[in-house]
Amino acid sequence: MGHQSMEQTQARLFINGKWAEPAAGGSSFPSLDPATGALVGTFAEAGPADVDAAVDAARCALADPAWVGITAAERARLLWRVADLIEAHAGELAELETRDQGQPLGVARDVSVAGAAEHFRYYAGWCTKIEGAVAPVSFPNTLHYTRREPVGVCALITPWNFPLMIATWKIAPALACGNTVIVKPAEQTPATTVRLVELIERAGIPAGVVNLLTGGPDVGRALVEHPGVDKVSFTGSTAVGKEIVRGSAANLKRVTLELGGKAPSIIAADADIDAAVAGNLQGGLLNSGQVCAAYTRFYVDRRRVDEFTEKLANAASGLRLGNGLDPETQLGPLVTAEHLAKVDGCVRRAVEEGAELVTGGTRADGDGSLARGNFFRPTVLAGVRDEMSIARDEVFGPVLPVLAYDDPEELAARANDTEYGLAAAVWTKDLATAHRLAADIRAGAVFVNMLPIPDSGAPWGGFGASGWGREMGKYALDVFTEVKGVWMHLG
Ligand code: NAP
Repeated sequence: MGHQSMEQTQARLFINGKWAEPAAGGSSFPSLDPATGALVGTFAEAGPADVDAAVDAARCALADPAWVGITAAERARLLWRVADLIEAHAGELAELETRDQGQPLGVARDVSVAGAAEHFRYYAGWCTKIEGAVAPVSFPNTLHYTRREPVGVCALITPWNFPLMIATWKIAPALACGNTVIVKPAEQTPATTVRLVELIERAGIPAGVVNLLTGGPDVGRALVEHPGVDKVSFTGSTAVGKEIVRGSAANLKRVTLELGGKAPSIIAADADIDAAVAGNLQGGLLNSGQVCAAYTRFYVDRRRVDEFTEKLANAASGLRLGNGLDPETQLGPLVTAEHLAKVDGCVRRAVEEGAELVTGGTRADGDGSLARGNFFRPTVLAGVRDEMSIARDEVFGPVLPVLAYDDPEELAARANDTEYGLAAAVWTKDLATAHRLAADIRAGAVFVNMLPIPDSGAPWGGFGASGWGREMGKYALDVFTEVKGVWMHLG
């Protein structure tokens, strides 16, 4: 087993159904609790020989009757069993996610762990429903039908903000479609992915079908460049996404990219301001703003902007920062000290560029109890203009910049003036405004009067620099299968 105790994980690599030390020796790296700096665990650092071994194992499993020989119904039962095991270990997984990533325990339990189980259930259902089609080709006496076949060996590379849940966004559909996978979690937050792979092993998924390589960016790079890998499914930053496109070109891997965002949230003049404040507070600050679809620039009708800003700032400054394990905590720490420094730098630059700091803007140490952790006060900035970096760059922290608008006709153009296009929000009571903006804004998901939380049944992905392709829903079946046409002359 890779996991040895809840107190401190000591994890190895999982290759071809076995937990193993790296081939080159026992090199490892630590993962720290962002709320306290305490050691959460030590994780094996995979080297090039381990990457080769994992790819070999995944290739062999593609031809193993224990995997390809089972029926779709049997595959469904395996996935369902993983969901049951996630639920049976929900408390432990949630606590581990909070310690490793920092998110409040309620978020870990109700979003991360619940979402992880739900993803396995949802794709368990799809296993028996992946159909081909008969195409009416215009050749005489010819039958044409399609088969949806696995793409092959999939490298699944995940980020640090929702490590467990995002791993399941990829593993569940990849397995439902009959692929084999190598999972590479972010080095800041590997703990729950290790635990998930242990549960996958216990569920009885055959050896070699799911492999786990922990380690740094070199492991991701080696997978992306490996000729034995057929597909990369990546969630992470836009900069690394571009590197992946370049690195995967040699064998023209299939690539899906779920990348960064800069979601606009439009608060129309007729919006219920109190509901908009509550929704944007959560939509902007969930997981301390470390959410790809977080609302990050608020366009408010000028007649209501002062009221909105004041209420937002009051609500933000009243949030309770703390260790996510404390049930009173509403806002946890940022994932690392480096990330905190980046967020701090973004806020300083905004003020230099002329934004008004209404609340927050500094590191939090409370009565000293927060000083060991990476806590940043929820921050509201007013008087923000479109050209400021705070309105353009992804911050990925608890920072809420407010902008005013005068003419609703300018909104779509301003919302779309970005390289990103992952999510957007509209707050209004008017259906025509909602539908018009939903159509005009270039984003993979537009939320009307609600929070930006994805669901396994709905497509997820972005326009522009927010990525390539869609995962979740039936859309994931398209990206985790190849379509084969079979032509049959009937004599
Ligand atoms: P990141 O730095 O891009 O890292 C993501 C993963 O890629 C990590 O496992 C990382 O390994 C690995 N990696 C780094 N360099 C690589 C390379 N050259 N080749 C292959 N893999 C490489 O992202 P992050 O900072 O962890 O996550 C935050 C970003 O993810 C934000 O931009 C956020 O918007 C985005 N995100 C998007 C979505 C979405 O659905 N669109 C969801 C969540 C997050 P190491 O950890 O070892 O560096």
